[in-house]
Amino acid sequence: MKKTNIYYGIRNIGLLNMDNDECPCKKGLKKIDIKYDSDKKFNLIFMGAPGSGKGTEIQILQKEGYTKISTGDLLREEVNSGSELGKKLKKIMDSGNLVSDDLVIKLIDNILSKLESKNGFILDGFPRTIQQAKKLDSLLKKNKLKIHGVIEIKTPDELIIKRITGRYVCVNCGATYNKFGNKPEVDGVCDVCQGTEFKTRSDDTEEIVKKRLNTYHSEAAPIIKFYKKQNIFYTVDGSSGEALITDQQVRNILKELII
Ligand SMILES: [Zn+2]
Repeated sequence: MKKTNIYYGIRNIGLLNMDNDECPCKKGLKKIDIKYDSDKKFNLIFMGAPGSGKGTEIQILQKEGYTKISTGDLLREEVNSGSELGKKLKKIMDSGNLVSDDLVIKLIDNILSKLESKNGFILDGFPRTIQQAKKLDSLLKKNKLKIHGVIEIKTPDELIIKRITGRYVCVNCGATYNKFGNKPEVDGVCDVCQGTEFKTRSDDTEEIVKKRLNTYHSEAAPIIKFYKKQNIFYTVDGSSGEALITDQQVRNILKELII
């Protein structure tokens, strides 16, 4: 058993998809020790709507040595590498088109075939369609890999809408608050820097968040069905919005998984 230190910006738990180590409210940082069995790692797919708390949980697992494989990151990296494929991708993305399943699969195949360890990766944002899920199965077979568990962090839509639309940030220090809870001790005064100026993120309107959630649900439904049939699908209740509570549930699932 190894021991690791995980730092959370307590103001950010479950509210913002940011690297908690980079939380600007340093005074609000809380250190939590978690014991874990570092030798046993699984291959996981994480699912969850934007704002469900999925990103935070993946960050916790990454700190234990899990490798996150996200299609968004892969696309960015490939474009930045300046490779032939990268140039092709840039052209597609610059023209506002969606990158085809075939190209996404190619990127995933590249990374899976180069993995140093057979176990310990997390797929984030992939598969997004049932076609991708089926192709992933053949990629795994080809690379002699296996997905041990598919975990969906399930958070009620109304809660996600409140989490996202209620967010506001201290202009001075960047500490995050939420008007539906998680307010500063003194209303209108930042706990961290005593600043009194705040801003909201205007792009996260209720309408936009609802649209994103609907897209997620319609895309996720067939994928969930697919993995339920394989008996590797699990759900975690993300409604608490507390990273530790979500994490504890994930741990309980991991205990049940068999390599
Ligand atoms: Zn502040």
